[in-house]
Amino acid sequence: MELACLDLEGVLVPEIWIAFAEKTGIEELRATTRDIPDYNVLMRQRLGLLDQHGLKIDDIQQVIATLEPLEGAVEFVDWLRERFQVIILSDTFYEFSQPLMRQLGWPTLFCHRLITDDSGRVVDYKLRQEDPKRASVKALHSLHYRVIAAGDSYNDTTMLAEADAGILFHAPDNVIAEFPQFPAVHTYADLKQAFITASERDLSL
Ligand SMILES: [Mg+2]
Repeated sequence: MELACLDLEGVLVPEIWIAFAEKTGIEELRATTRDIPDYNVLMRQRLGLLDQHGLKIDDIQQVIATLEPLEGAVEFVDWLRERFQVIILSDTFYEFSQPLMRQLGWPTLFCHRLITDDSGRVVDYKLRQEDPKRASVKALHSLHYRVIAAGDSYNDTTMLAEADAGILFHAPDNVIAEFPQFPAVHTYADLKQAFITASERDLSL
Protein backbone atom coordinates (compact mmCIF):
# COMPACT_ATOMS: atom_id res chain seq x y z
CA MET A 1 0.00 0.00 0.00
CA GLU A 2 1.28 3.45 -0.89
CA LEU A 3 0.69 6.80 0.74
CA ALA A 4 1.49 10.28 -0.55
CA CYS A 5 2.67 12.83 2.04
CA LEU A 6 2.78 16.47 1.03
CA ASP A 7 4.06 19.61 2.65
CA LEU A 8 1.46 22.40 2.57
CA GLU A 9 3.05 25.88 2.44
CA GLY A 10 5.06 26.48 -0.71
CA VAL A 11 3.71 23.27 -2.24
CA LEU A 12 -0.07 23.73 -2.31
CA VAL A 13 -0.65 27.15 -0.73
CA PRO A 14 1.43 30.32 -0.29
CA GLU A 15 3.56 30.85 2.83
CA ILE A 16 0.71 31.69 5.19
CA TRP A 17 2.45 34.14 7.58
CA ILE A 18 3.97 36.07 4.67
CA ALA A 19 0.70 36.22 2.75
CA PHE A 20 -1.05 37.22 5.98
CA ALA A 21 1.52 40.01 6.53
CA GLU A 22 0.86 41.28 3.01
CA LYS A 23 -2.91 41.21 3.43
CA THR A 24 -2.83 43.00 6.78
CA GLY A 25 0.09 45.32 5.97
CA ILE A 26 1.81 44.30 9.23
CA GLU A 27 5.41 44.25 7.96
CA GLU A 28 6.91 42.67 11.11
CA LEU A 29 4.79 39.56 10.53
CA ARG A 30 6.96 38.78 7.49
CA ALA A 31 9.78 37.66 9.79
CA THR A 32 10.65 33.97 9.44
CA THR A 33 13.15 31.61 11.06
CA ARG A 34 15.73 33.09 8.68
CA ASP A 35 15.43 36.41 10.57
CA ILE A 36 14.79 34.97 14.06
CA PRO A 37 16.33 31.48 14.24
CA ASP A 38 14.74 30.61 17.60
CA TYR A 39 11.24 29.42 16.63
CA ASN A 40 9.78 30.10 20.08
CA VAL A 41 11.05 33.68 20.07
CA LEU A 42 9.60 34.13 16.57
CA MET A 43 6.20 32.72 17.60
CA ARG A 44 6.09 34.92 20.74
CA GLN A 45 6.75 37.94 18.52
CA ARG A 46 3.99 36.88 16.10
CA LEU A 47 1.45 36.37 18.88
CA GLY A 48 2.46 39.72 20.38
CA LEU A 49 1.87 41.42 17.02
CA LEU A 50 -1.57 39.81 16.69
CA ASP A 51 -2.45 41.24 20.13
CA GLN A 52 -0.98 44.62 19.34
CA HIS A 53 -3.16 44.86 16.23
CA GLY A 54 -6.19 43.47 18.04
CA LEU A 55 -6.44 40.48 15.72
CA LYS A 56 -8.60 37.69 17.16
CA ILE A 57 -8.81 34.21 15.67
CA ASP A 58 -11.95 35.10 13.66
CA ASP A 59 -10.27 38.17 12.13
CA ILE A 60 -7.22 36.11 11.25
CA GLN A 61 -9.32 33.41 9.59
CA GLN A 62 -11.25 36.02 7.64
CA VAL A 63 -8.02 37.45 6.27
CA ILE A 64 -6.62 34.02 5.46
CA ALA A 65 -9.91 33.11 3.76
CA THR A 66 -9.05 35.71 1.10
CA LEU A 67 -5.93 33.68 0.19
CA GLU A 68 -6.08 31.02 -2.47
CA PRO A 69 -4.19 27.79 -3.07
CA LEU A 70 -1.39 28.05 -5.64
CA GLU A 71 -2.57 27.89 -9.24
CA GLY A 72 -3.10 24.25 -10.20
CA ALA A 73 -2.91 22.98 -6.61
CA VAL A 74 -6.58 21.97 -6.33
CA GLU A 75 -6.43 19.97 -9.57
CA PHE A 76 -3.15 18.37 -8.47
CA VAL A 77 -4.56 17.27 -5.12
CA ASP A 78 -7.62 15.80 -6.87
CA TRP A 79 -5.35 13.91 -9.25
CA LEU A 80 -3.20 12.61 -6.40
CA ARG A 81 -6.17 11.51 -4.26
CA GLU A 82 -7.49 9.36 -7.07
CA ARG A 83 -4.22 7.43 -7.01
CA PHE A 84 -2.99 7.57 -3.39
CA GLN A 85 -4.23 8.05 0.12
CA VAL A 86 -2.95 11.59 0.72
CA ILE A 87 -1.80 13.10 4.02
CA ILE A 88 -0.60 16.68 4.37
CA LEU A 89 2.26 17.00 6.87
CA SER A 90 2.69 20.65 7.81
CA ASP A 91 4.25 22.92 10.41
CA THR A 92 1.30 25.30 10.20
CA PHE A 93 -1.61 25.50 12.67
CA TYR A 94 -5.08 24.01 12.13
CA GLU A 95 -6.72 27.36 12.90
CA PHE A 96 -4.61 29.11 10.26
CA SER A 97 -4.87 26.51 7.55
CA GLN A 98 -8.62 25.96 7.83
CA PRO A 99 -9.74 28.47 5.16
CA LEU A 100 -7.18 27.09 2.70
CA MET A 101 -7.92 23.45 3.50
CA ARG A 102 -11.57 24.16 2.73
CA GLN A 103 -10.54 25.21 -0.78
CA LEU A 104 -8.46 22.04 -1.14
CA GLY A 105 -11.43 19.82 -0.24
CA TRP A 106 -10.27 19.01 3.33
CA PRO A 107 -7.51 16.47 2.74
CA THR A 108 -6.14 14.88 5.93
CA LEU A 109 -3.81 17.29 7.71
CA PHE A 110 -1.31 16.63 10.51
CA CYS A 111 -0.02 19.92 11.95
CA HIS A 112 0.00 22.04 15.14
CA ARG A 113 -2.57 23.94 17.16
CA LEU A 114 -3.13 27.52 18.30
CA ILE A 115 -4.63 28.06 21.73
CA THR A 116 -7.27 30.75 22.08
CA ASP A 117 -9.14 32.11 25.08
CA ASP A 118 -12.91 32.68 25.34
CA SER A 119 -12.63 36.04 23.57
CA GLY A 120 -10.84 34.45 20.57
CA ARG A 121 -7.46 35.96 21.46
CA VAL A 122 -4.54 33.72 20.46
CA VAL A 123 -2.72 33.13 23.74
CA ASP A 124 -0.39 30.26 22.93
CA TYR A 125 0.47 27.49 20.49
CA LYS A 126 1.00 23.79 20.83
CA LEU A 127 3.50 21.96 18.65
CA ARG A 128 2.39 18.35 18.22
CA GLN A 129 5.81 16.73 18.66
CA GLU A 130 9.51 17.03 17.83
CA ASP A 131 10.47 16.56 14.16
CA PRO A 132 6.80 15.91 13.38
CA LYS A 133 7.11 15.23 9.66
CA ARG A 134 9.74 12.51 10.07
CA ALA A 135 7.87 11.06 13.07
CA SER A 136 4.69 10.87 10.97
CA VAL A 137 6.41 8.98 8.15
CA LYS A 138 7.93 6.59 10.71
CA ALA A 139 4.51 5.99 12.21
CA LEU A 140 3.02 5.33 8.76
CA HIS A 141 5.81 2.84 8.10
CA SER A 142 4.83 1.03 11.29
CA LEU A 143 1.40 0.60 9.66
CA HIS A 144 3.14 -1.01 6.66
CA TYR A 145 2.57 1.78 4.19
CA ARG A 146 5.11 2.70 1.56
CA VAL A 147 5.49 6.51 1.62
CA ILE A 148 6.24 8.92 -1.22
CA ALA A 149 6.76 12.47 0.08
CA ALA A 150 7.14 15.90 -1.48
CA GLY A 151 8.15 19.21 0.08
CA ASP A 152 9.89 22.48 -0.70
CA SER A 153 12.20 23.38 2.16
CA TYR A 154 14.59 22.48 4.97
CA ASN A 155 11.79 21.50 7.33
CA ASP A 156 10.81 18.79 4.83
CA THR A 157 14.16 17.14 4.33
CA THR A 158 13.92 14.72 7.28
CA MET A 159 10.48 13.68 5.96
CA LEU A 160 11.90 13.16 2.47
CA ALA A 161 14.81 11.13 3.86
CA GLU A 162 12.54 8.96 6.00
CA ALA A 163 10.14 8.30 3.09
CA ASP A 164 10.70 5.50 0.60
CA ALA A 165 10.91 8.18 -2.08
CA GLY A 166 11.36 11.93 -1.54
CA ILE A 167 10.71 14.69 -4.08
CA LEU A 168 11.61 18.39 -3.89
CA PHE A 169 8.96 20.67 -5.35
CA HIS A 170 9.34 24.45 -5.81
CA ALA A 171 12.53 24.24 -3.71
CA PRO A 172 15.03 27.11 -3.69
CA ASP A 173 18.39 26.50 -5.37
CA ASN A 174 20.32 26.21 -2.10
CA VAL A 175 18.07 23.37 -0.89
CA ILE A 176 18.32 21.58 -4.25
CA ALA A 177 22.12 21.91 -4.15
CA GLU A 178 22.37 20.67 -0.57
CA PHE A 179 20.10 17.65 -1.12
CA PRO A 180 21.02 16.30 -4.57
CA GLN A 181 19.71 12.85 -3.59
CA PHE A 182 16.13 14.05 -4.11
CA PRO A 183 14.74 14.71 -7.59
CA ALA A 184 13.68 18.37 -7.88
CA VAL A 185 10.71 19.47 -9.97
CA HIS A 186 8.96 22.81 -10.39
CA THR A 187 5.60 22.22 -12.05
CA TYR A 188 2.59 20.13 -11.03
CA ALA A 189 2.87 18.21 -14.32
CA ASP A 190 6.43 17.19 -13.40
CA LEU A 191 5.39 16.46 -9.82
CA LYS A 192 2.71 14.06 -11.10
CA GLN A 193 5.35 12.37 -13.23
CA ALA A 194 7.68 12.14 -10.22
CA PHE A 195 4.95 10.40 -8.21
CA ILE A 196 4.29 8.01 -11.11
CA THR A 197 8.02 7.23 -11.30
CA ALA A 198 8.34 6.76 -7.53
CA SER A 199 5.31 4.49 -7.30
CA GLU A 200 5.70 0.73 -7.35
CA ARG A 201 2.39 0.49 -9.16
CA ASP A 202 1.77 1.17 -12.84
CA LEU A 203 -0.16 4.44 -12.64
CA SER A 204 0.12 5.23 -16.31
CA LEU A 205 -2.76 2.89 -17.16
MG1 LIG B 1 6.89 24.40 2.77
